[in-house]
Amino acid sequence: LAARLRDPGLLSEATLVGGRWIAAEGRKGFDVTNPSNGEVLARMPDLGSAETAAAVDAAHAAQKEWAKRSGKERGAVLRKWYELIIAGQDDLAAILTAEMGKPLAESRGEVLYGASYVEWYAEEAKRLYGDIIPGHQRDKRIFVIRQPVGVVGAITAWNFPSAMPLRKIAPALAAGCAIVFKPAFQTPLSATALAVLAERAGVPSGLFSVVTTTDAQSFGQDICRNDKVRKLTFTGSTQVGRILMRQASDQIMKLSLELGGNAPFIVFDDADVDAAVEGAIQSKFRNAGQTCVCANRIYVQSRIYDEFSRKLAARAAALRVGDGFEANIEVGPLIDEKAVGKVKRHIEDAVGKGAVVATGGGGHARGGLFFSPTVLTGVTQGMLVAREETFGPLAPVFRFDGVDEVIEMANDTEFGLAAYFFANDVRRIWKVAEALEYGMVGMNTGLISTEVAPFGGVKQSGVGREGSKYGLDDFTEMKYLCLGGV
Ligand code: ADP
Repeated sequence: LAARLRDPGLLSEATLVGGRWIAAEGRKGFDVTNPSNGEVLARMPDLGSAETAAAVDAAHAAQKEWAKRSGKERGAVLRKWYELIIAGQDDLAAILTAEMGKPLAESRGEVLYGASYVEWYAEEAKRLYGDIIPGHQRDKRIFVIRQPVGVVGAITAWNFPSAMPLRKIAPALAAGCAIVFKPAFQTPLSATALAVLAERAGVPSGLFSVVTTTDAQSFGQDICRNDKVRKLTFTGSTQVGRILMRQASDQIMKLSLELGGNAPFIVFDDADVDAAVEGAIQSKFRNAGQTCVCANRIYVQSRIYDEFSRKLAARAAALRVGDGFEANIEVGPLIDEKAVGKVKRHIEDAVGKGAVVATGGGGHARGGLFFSPTVLTGVTQGMLVAREETFGPLAPVFRFDGVDEVIEMANDTEFGLAAYFFANDVRRIWKVAEALEYGMVGMNTGLISTEVAPFGGVKQSGVGREGSKYGLDDFTEMKYLCLGGV
């Protein structure tokens, strides 16, 4: 991997904790491997409670000075970081593809997408506006100011190793917070590369740490028990989100949770079928189906069911599967055997209950963790795919007749992250948009993620929003000031 990089300094077998680089050499470590071929890419230090505590202490000290800087000054550091990320995008993309497997073009897209949050919050740092409220008595003056929450703990999943951390670190730093971050053990190299660039950009020592560890449970407990930490932000499964919410209750810690989804993708019979097929391909097969906003259940109205299914299967069958570094690859490997097992289980369950494989249906000819893009037809609500997030390249197509019926099916889940639908009738568009119990709804589009809009879910998909002008709120406290005797 180092040979691919223009700046080999971005690939370090060490991590930045409390302002110091800690190397794997001479201590407990763990290997980071390429899911495409099993190659060991780097050995990273496997840190524990002592390092987490040191990171929090350093963050606590650094945050005080950082918060005193003006928003413009904080924004200038973020802006510099953004520029370094843009300049290093090819290397960052290569590191990402190597550790996670997604096609190189998607990795570059992710790096740019993550960078857009740094750019956005470099600008928003200047706009932490408060408010002036007319006093309730003649001699009273009332002000509302916003202050940083303080030290933030952050934990992310492996599927967006570059964008997920940036979506948390950028607003935290913009608001004047410090952040102690734990990447997924599968994909720490994108995070440490970003730390190299953060240091070069002038992010103060100790303000931002990357704790690499295989003991996620201890990290979560250490963060939740440390009274210097005031907020936890997490992206991962609902199951782990529940554990963290419970743990965070001991200290009434502020929480942001981006959890699992079970996105419905509805195609009404007045929709542009070809556009809907394209939207479904993008929403379903991006990152090999391993995103929390991937279409998980595709509902198609009866009149266009056969046409849509046929076209979707043809497009899915034509997707190029392979190693992310090969040219024109559209679908990389899955992250591990467990992920492959889940997709297989969902297919077996559906086929056992009457679904039909329109294309794919099993492991790809390349072997390993490669899986064939799969389309199932004749799928019904009683199958596992209706209830669970597949997190793989499997598109199950359900049939429906009426609008009320499909809204009920779409909402019949404990999740509420993203939903999508394709339609043209404007009254139908409003009705369905308002009825879907989701935090985000894509209408006539399968791609909705952008730094300018609030990303987040309702129900068991989480609390809080990332990105947009609203995203800073989660990292600030509101303080009400009342001046009397005027
Ligand atoms: P995924 O299935 O996508 O890996 P997880 O929710 O298991 O989703 O993991 C997301 C992140 O949460 C990872 O960084 C993982 O190490 C971390 N994690 C897993 N279990 C715990 C836990 N008990 N406490 C804190 N973090 C955890």
